[in-house]
Amino acid sequence: MAAVAGQAPPAPGTLSTMRAAPPPPLAAQPTPLSRLLGIALDALRTGAEERGGPLPAGGPQAVTARVRATLGAVLPETGTGPHEALRTLVHLVAAGAADPAHPLCAAHLHTPPLALAAAADLAAAALNPSMDSWDQAPAASALEAEVTAALAAEVFPAADHPDALVTTGGTESNQLALLLARERHGTALTTVTGAHTHHSVRRAAWLLGLPEPVVVPTPRGVLDPAEAARALADQDGPVLLTATAGTTDEGLIDPLPQLADACAAHGAELHVDAAYGGPLLLSATHRPLLTGLDRARTVTLDLHKLGWQPVAAGLLAVRDTGDLAPLAHTADYLNADDDTDAGLPDLLGRSLRTTRRPDVLKAAVTLRALGRTGLGALVDRCMEHARDLADLVEKTPGLELRDRPVLTTVLFRPTGAEDTRVAEIRRTLLADGRAVLGRAEADGRLWLKATLLNPHTTPDDLAQLITLVEGDTDR
Ligand SMILES: *Cc1c(COP(=O)(O)O)cnc(C)c1O
Repeated sequence: MAAVAGQAPPAPGTLSTMRAAPPPPLAAQPTPLSRLLGIALDALRTGAEERGGPLPAGGPQAVTARVRATLGAVLPETGTGPHEALRTLVHLVAAGAADPAHPLCAAHLHTPPLALAAAADLAAAALNPSMDSWDQAPAASALEAEVTAALAAEVFPAADHPDALVTTGGTESNQLALLLARERHGTALTTVTGAHTHHSVRRAAWLLGLPEPVVVPTPRGVLDPAEAARALADQDGPVLLTATAGTTDEGLIDPLPQLADACAAHGAELHVDAAYGGPLLLSATHRPLLTGLDRARTVTLDLHKLGWQPVAAGLLAVRDTGDLAPLAHTADYLNADDDTDAGLPDLLGRSLRTTRRPDVLKAAVTLRALGRTGLGALVDRCMEHARDLADLVEKTPGLELRDRPVLTTVLFRPTGAEDTRVAEIRRTLLADGRAVLGRAEADGRLWLKATLLNPHTTPDDLAQLITLVEGDTDR
């Protein structure tokens, strides 16, 4: 850019006579794409080899210095060409990645994406459909309609017309749930939440101009139905209770049937944030843990957690497609009335976004490839890993287990350690690039938190995680 500043603009015709490099090929052309893909895949491998562990060693300063040094000019005057750029930067990001596929990366519900889902996502990027009008996404929008209806029917099996919106994740799903509730009840709508509720619910209330949510304490990690009922009874106007199936701190599930009863008794609506726990629906063994989920009016799901999708893959399921009516919106250039009357599907009311990726493709590929049984088995394996890790903690002198896991979250800490020590252990493992663990407060104390989403984790990996924490405890 600097060279252009102060220069006179080129005279008409000059640009076309300049000898420039040919324009790079477009993504939907398979041959150039496969050549570039080879380079990208190679760089993923070399980057991971250089890293060697679950995340880069050295902490933020080392990583930032390395990125700056390799990158140099962000926008060089003359480009380096596709091969060099792709090789260099994919290697850089891979070498500096917190790799969720590494078994010692066990925090934040950060999922290792399935290869087939990543491949489908590449195809989506190459085709680049945009889900805001039918003429930008004919088949992708039809696919989305089928998949969302089918997934919503998993959540609301008895509903006549269940439906779901595709979102960027639990945050957007919770926002939409509160928005739809506000449109049904007005801006006096009070949200009753638990202290354990995901932060995005409070933010959504703020964003939507709703009253500050009423927060019910959750000392045991889940909402107590009697206390929730009391909070509902205390409100004068319309109320939405948000419950959680898969809490962020402890991976617990609120008592959904009792909370649904409390809502029914007090004329309140129920939203369930099942961003984490929702996919238990696909496991014959663990589905009963979600009994009562279908009594919610809206349910948040995230397939980029226990669904093994690359980000983003969120859903908001609604019991009836008519519930989405408040999102209806017209822009003449996208869904003119006469186009809609002539039968062109109207997509604008399916999101608050306009241009929107076809995130449904990777999910559809995954559902078809693995089936209910295959996905359920992945859920079951992660649940087993959590129980195995809890067993290991219980068998390790010097480590304390918070409680037996309900989902795939395991909280543990060195017995008798100060909270500052627990925080330090986690940061040391991060700084050394040896393990990624989360942290959570429970019972007034700080805990190390492992969130196990990697179906390929082995008993040896879990033992190594414990050894690393023990080693650090002894330092
Ligand atoms: C992850 C999570 C969210 C937020 O989802 P994003 O996909 O990060 O936007 C909300 N609620 C719960 C319970 C979650 O686990």
